[in-house]
Amino acid sequence: MATTKINGASWIVTVDSKRRVIRNASILIEDSLIKAVDKVENLASEQADIVIDAQNKLVTPGFVNNHMHISYAHAVRGIFPDDLPLQTYLGYVFKLQSVMKPEEEYYTSLLAITELLKNGCTCLLDPGTITSIDSGVKAIRESGIRAVIGREVVDKPNPINLHVMETNEAIKIVEEVIRRYNGELDGRINAWAMPFSPNYCSDELLLSVKEIADRAGVGVTMHMSGNEDQANSFRNQRGTSPVEYLAEKGILDKNVLLAHALAVNDREVDLMAEKGAKVVHCPSAAVRGSGATKLGKFPEMIDKGICVSLGNDAANSSYYLDPIRLMYLSAVLYKDARQNRSMIPPETAIEMCTINGASALLLEQYTGSIEPGKKADLVIFDTKRPEWRSLFNPINNLVYSTDGRSVDTVLVDGKIVIKDQEAQYVNEDDLCDRVQRIGEEVLLRTGISFKYRWTFE
Ligand SMILES: [Zn+2]
Repeated sequence: MATTKINGASWIVTVDSKRRVIRNASILIEDSLIKAVDKVENLASEQADIVIDAQNKLVTPGFVNNHMHISYAHAVRGIFPDDLPLQTYLGYVFKLQSVMKPEEEYYTSLLAITELLKNGCTCLLDPGTITSIDSGVKAIRESGIRAVIGREVVDKPNPINLHVMETNEAIKIVEEVIRRYNGELDGRINAWAMPFSPNYCSDELLLSVKEIADRAGVGVTMHMSGNEDQANSFRNQRGTSPVEYLAEKGILDKNVLLAHALAVNDREVDLMAEKGAKVVHCPSAAVRGSGATKLGKFPEMIDKGICVSLGNDAANSSYYLDPIRLMYLSAVLYKDARQNRSMIPPETAIEMCTINGASALLLEQYTGSIEPGKKADLVIFDTKRPEWRSLFNPINNLVYSTDGRSVDTVLVDGKIVIKDQEAQYVNEDDLCDRVQRIGEEVLLRTGISFKYRWTFE
């Protein structure tokens, strides 16, 4: 049995059921699990194989990112002009995605995961855009991150280059992916049903994958009304709003996680609350023209008891993958939009990115807080930095003053994956070079290029 001790942390933000923030405390880890969290003096006699000196450090639960396409964007990050219409942008995105080779998906996923881990994100949901799941699994295995994976499926023609399958084929793929991958890597991987969006899926496909997920005890995630056009086009086609439609069909449920959920009406919010459906808000993607503050009803969802978690979306939708910047946006956007300083306090923003994130992934027994019996998914911040000081209320400082640059050490499943700000499982320098080359090749292969406002000589 391997033991690790995080010794003498200045602060531990537990996010446990009492929401304790403990000063001068230590954490004892046995293999992958947290064994004890207590004041330094109460754990002073405990020895461990690995001791991490946590003086001037702050420990939080690992952050949970519930909507992050890991497999393509890092190869072509930043290529899109801001003013591309969203539909055109998505068309390019899925075209690029479709030409990725398995080895390329492995390296781009590994770089995305490395960026996530270095910013304190220990658990992600990839909404199934990866073509070679085995390439994603390889990157997850080697990096040590926790992940929910799947394969996106659609069976209706769509304007965004998503591969259209026969309904039966799509159902079979969902069944097979869950059977093959759920519980892999000692439970570090969960596999879910991932119909891309109700806009592009038939009734039969949606009903079937929900039933498959229920039988397997896993979840269903789908893109939901990420802007007004998507919500309106669904309404025009089927005569009702998408969330009402899911509720009518018996699909809206506790194991359903809706991504974006931006252009939803009050009736839809009430239905989500009634049925226990979960939401992942992607603020950094939404603020880039989708109407985060005009349309978003996230504070109201939280007031109604809906589990709202956070996600980035792909590196070309969000650009950055820093969970602290997601918390920051969540905590400031609605204060400003409603001109009401009580909207989404920083404590709630932290919950969205930890315990709510875990709960939305049906993983709250395992991760999302620091308490005995849970997996040791932990982030250790260095607080001896200008942006952290002076330090009296670490909750305010974490959400409003800092960012992922002060993440020093990260553990997932009790294993140190980031140490002294460096990935322990890969040579980052080589990885960056390789993904740059992959990007150059992918752009050549697809012939995609853009004209920018300034000339690059
Ligand atoms: Zn997405």
